[in-house]
Amino acid sequence: MDALVERLAHEHVLDAQGYASLLASCDETAFNLLQKYAAEVAQSHFGSRVYIRGLIEVSNYCRNNCYYCGIRRDNREVSRYRLTDEQILSACENGYRLGFRTFVLQGGEDAHLTDERLVPLVETMHRRYPDCAITLSLGERSHSSYKRLYDAGASRYLLRHEAASRQLYEQLHPVSMSWHNRMKCIEELQQIGFQTGMGMMVGVPGQSIDHLVEDLLLMQQMRPHMVGIGPFIPHSLTPLGHHPAGSVRLTLMLICIVRLMLPSALIPSTTALASLSSQAQLQGIQCGANVIMPNLSPSDVRDSYQIYEGKAAFGSEAAEGLLILSERLAEIGYEISYEKGDYKSDN
Ligand code: SAM
Repeated sequence: MDALVERLAHEHVLDAQGYASLLASCDETAFNLLQKYAAEVAQSHFGSRVYIRGLIEVSNYCRNNCYYCGIRRDNREVSRYRLTDEQILSACENGYRLGFRTFVLQGGEDAHLTDERLVPLVETMHRRYPDCAITLSLGERSHSSYKRLYDAGASRYLLRHEAASRQLYEQLHPVSMSWHNRMKCIEELQQIGFQTGMGMMVGVPGQSIDHLVEDLLLMQQMRPHMVGIGPFIPHSLTPLGHHPAGSVRLTLMLICIVRLMLPSALIPSTTALASLSSQAQLQGIQCGANVIMPNLSPSDVRDSYQIYEGKAAFGSEAAEGLLILSERLAEIGYEISYEKGDYKSDN
């Protein structure tokens, strides 16, 4: 097992069988070695700096019905909201004052989030905050929409692939959603020039080690600039709500592997990890993650963006809790970086 870790650390790549053995039979010694190398690689690229991104959850209306997601269309018990441009711009102003230099607009696939509304909004954000990056995470859109948003000033887009295996993707989504379209969107985002994020949940019902290996191989091939990996956390008002949450250890192991595979990637220690335990989020950083995305949404809507139960949005997960976050990072030898933190390739 240690030999596989050594090979991944030095060659940045394994074959399918190597990833499968590592994930299935990683004992404590191998895990510690994996973590040591992942932390070293992150240190050599980013020092002890952790980038922060201000997350603004712009709408919890969604046309989709993903079987795992608490804001799915058929969950009638969600109190739906949609932020106005004024609310979004005031969240940016607040975030800028707190030191954020990246704003992430994330939301459900809301029919009101048209290009006619988003393009002027992104242009205004870009004009007001030329020193900030604008990241979008608004799901699947047309090529022309992505291009217009890019031209308006958005430079990063997060669209997790959710499952490299088409069969698993289809188990997690209704027939109205297409694995092909998800992949096509990611390719288009990359081709337009966005710094593009992929990723998946860990421990989602039906997922095997082989499925995770397919995820790793897909990312090895597509080389995303950002990779979001978090545990699946059930929401009782969804079809998958009676399944257990994903494993923190397996999630951490995947973060280590992705750090070694894509040394300069921007990898968040996700809110889902923090929601399972605040310790887990710090462990994510110790396993090579280098980004944290505190919540910058207006506080009265934070509870309504419940994609899973127990989602952390306050304390060190909140934009106004940066002091707590920096103290907690300091305890493990890391510090917040207030830089914009764009992707920089190795070459
Ligand atoms: N609608 C956009 C999209 O599809 O990319 C962005 C919002 S979506 C809620 C953001 C991410 O939340 C998804 O990519 C998914 O991986 C994650 N997510 C949804 N439900 C989850 C759950 N029950 N547990 C953990 N993560 C979840």
